[in-house]
Parts: sequence; structure tokens; C-alpha cells
Amino acid sequence: MSEKRAVILGAAGFIGSHLVDRFLAEGWRVTGVDNLITGTLRNIEHLSRETRFDFLEADVCGSLDAIQGTVDAVLDFASPASPIDYLEHPFETLHVGSIGVENALKLAKRTGAVFLLSSTSEVYGDPLEHPQRETYWGNVNPIGPRAVYDEAKRFAEAITVAYRRYEKVQVRIARIFNTYGPRMRLDDGRVVPTFVAQALRGEPITMFGDGSQTRSFCYVDDNVEGMWRLLHSSYEDPVNIGNPHELTILEFAKAVQRLVGSDVPIVSRPLPQDDPRVRRPDITRAKELLGWEPKVGFDEGMRRTIAWFEQQV
Ligand code: NAD
Ligand code: UDP
Repeated sequence: MSEKRAVILGAAGFIGSHLVDRFLAEGWRVTGVDNLITGTLRNIEHLSRETRFDFLEADVCGSLDAIQGTVDAVLDFASPASPIDYLEHPFETLHVGSIGVENALKLAKRTGAVFLLSSTSEVYGDPLEHPQRETYWGNVNPIGPRAVYDEAKRFAEAITVAYRRYEKVQVRIARIFNTYGPRMRLDDGRVVPTFVAQALRGEPITMFGDGSQTRSFCYVDDNVEGMWRLLHSSYEDPVNIGNPHELTILEFAKAVQRLVGSDVPIVSRPLPQDDPRVRRPDITRAKELLGWEPKVGFDEGMRRTIAWFEQQV
């Protein structure tokens, strides 16, 4: 049997680079594409001698004609993902979620590949249903500051489904909930790197609002396993991939203090506009269809992440 080939868009990013590692470990050839807007070559530098990996520094909103030959899977993980990043790059975020995703779908059609979209729990906005099931249509402010990301991802899902319906591209849609682990940028502004870096540096932990808003954190290895299984399924509707273990942000701040072994104070800062009040995936669909559920517990995942951040601080 000939070697399989994946094209991973956003390959120098946090999740994308872990996916590259997984596909190579499974014996695939991988072409990585990234324009390095929020990613870094450091995430893939360990692959510089890997003959089954090649890297194309390119914007997925431009031509992808340089990618020739058969491709088995196109995995689209290219997009600024942290609030700080997408608020700093609003147009790039809107473009990559629309033009970039259509280019990626065209690449999948041209090469006969299955297309996997990294969608997000943000399509549920500030949810009025809790936990969130895939059948929920969401509560998104289309003109709020987060809209550049949320609405781009909702468009990305819509165009992905249109390519399935009208162009017969095989598609997979992963609705990814807050994912964390090694290779997150320390300064990406997301709560995991921010609180850990603050605790490690002996600085106050900046909790937004009163910390009663909730999130549910999934370790990156569990996410990658979910992507692998989803790709290999034949399911074309969205699937939530996240960890249902839900914490308030205040509980999370205290957990960081405990796990880092630091007694830095927790200080309150203004809550950003439209910050979702609650977020927790209902993963029944992933369990039933993919036999998937997270395996890495919160303390274990955080220990591995903290160990990695310690080397970066
Ligand atoms: P990241 O910023 O670390 O990775 C994104 C990568 O895409 C970066 O390397 C960036 O340089 C690249 N990129 C962005 N725009 C590009 C363009 N126009 N052309 C080429 N490359 C481009 O973020 P991440 O956390 O790894 O997120 C990856 C994907 O997963 C994103 O689509 C994001 O929306 C999705 N997602 C992530 C999470 C999470 O918690 N990490 C949650 C939900 C969804
Ligand atoms: N948050 C916080 N302090 C920070 C960064 C984030 O309290 O320094 C909060 C933020 O308001 C949100 C939660 O942590 O309620 C998760 O934020 P993150 O940016 O990681 O992800 P998202 O809001 O996209 O889920």
C-alpha cells in the first residue's frame, strides 16, 4: 500500500504542529503550510531532517497551486485562535476563515482529499444551552469584537457544508473546545499560558471579572486523538471535541497556584465584552460515533504543560 499524505494548514501553530507529529508517527507523509502570523518555526524545527515532512511558507488565502500530486487529507488548522491574536489581526482572521477555508476546500476537491475543518465552540457564542450539543445553533453577537473570529468560523462551517453538498467533497467538522498544552505561545493571551506564566514569574494572576465564568480544558493529545478518529470516520456533521471537566476561572486560577506551587495574588481585571459565561461540551456524539473521550486528567495535563512553560519563561 502506498504511503498516505496529509496537507496540514497551520502546521507551525500549537495544535497544527502536534497533528504533524501524529501523522508522521502514523507513517504518513505530511506537507505543512503556514504564514507564521501567530505560529513559529520552533514548533516544527525538530522535523528539519524528517524526509517525510516538507514545509511551505505561504498564506492559505493565496494560491495553493504549489501543492501537487494526490493528497488523502487536508486538515485546516490555519487561523489566529486566541482573543488577543484575532483582535490584533481582525481582517486576517476574517479572510482566513472565509477565503482561506474556500482555498483549502478547493485543494481537497482538486486532490481528492478528505477535508477536516477546525471549527470551534465559539460558534455557540455566549450559549443559552448548557452543556452545548452539536444541535444548538448558538448565541453569537455578529457585530461584537469577537465576531471577526466567531462569524468567520460560522461561515467556514457553512462553506464546508456547501462543498459537501454541491461539490461532493468529503468533509469533517470538529468543534474544538478550549485546548491547552505544550507549544502554546506564552504571550498569546489565553488563560492557560497567561496564568501559568504569571504564577511562574511571581506576578499577580489577572482574572477577568469575578471569575465565575466557566471553561472546560482539553489536553492537546486528547484533541489530536479526536481529530485522528474523526478523520477516519465517515461522519460529515459537526462533532464536539473537548473535555467536559468544567471549572470556573477562579477555580482554574487557584488550581494554577496549587500546581505551580506559588502564592501570587489573584487580582480582578475588567471582563472583556461578550466573554461567554459558560462553556462545556456535550461529547455524547464523539463517544458514540468515534469511541472517543479525553484520557488525560486535568492535573496531569497541567503538569506536562507547566513543565514545558518552565523552559520558556
Ligand atoms: P495557533 O495560532 O497556534 O495556530 C494557528 C496557525 O495558523 C499559526 O501557526 C498561524 O501562523 C497559522 N495561520 C494563520 N493564518 C494563516 C494563513 N492565512 N495562512 C497560513 N497560515 C496561517 O492556534 P491553535 O490554537 O493551534 O489553533 C489552530 C486551529 O484550531 C484554529 O483554526 C483555531 O480556530 C482552532 N481552535 C483552537 C482551539 C484551542 O483551544 N486551541 C479551540 C477551538 C478551535
Ligand atoms: N481570562 C482571564 N484572564 C486572562 C485571560 C483570560 O480571566 O488573563 C478569562 C477570559 O475572560 C475567559 C477565560 O479566561 O473567560 C478563557 O479565556 P481564553 O482567552 O483562554 O479563551 P476563550 O475566551 O476564547 O474561551
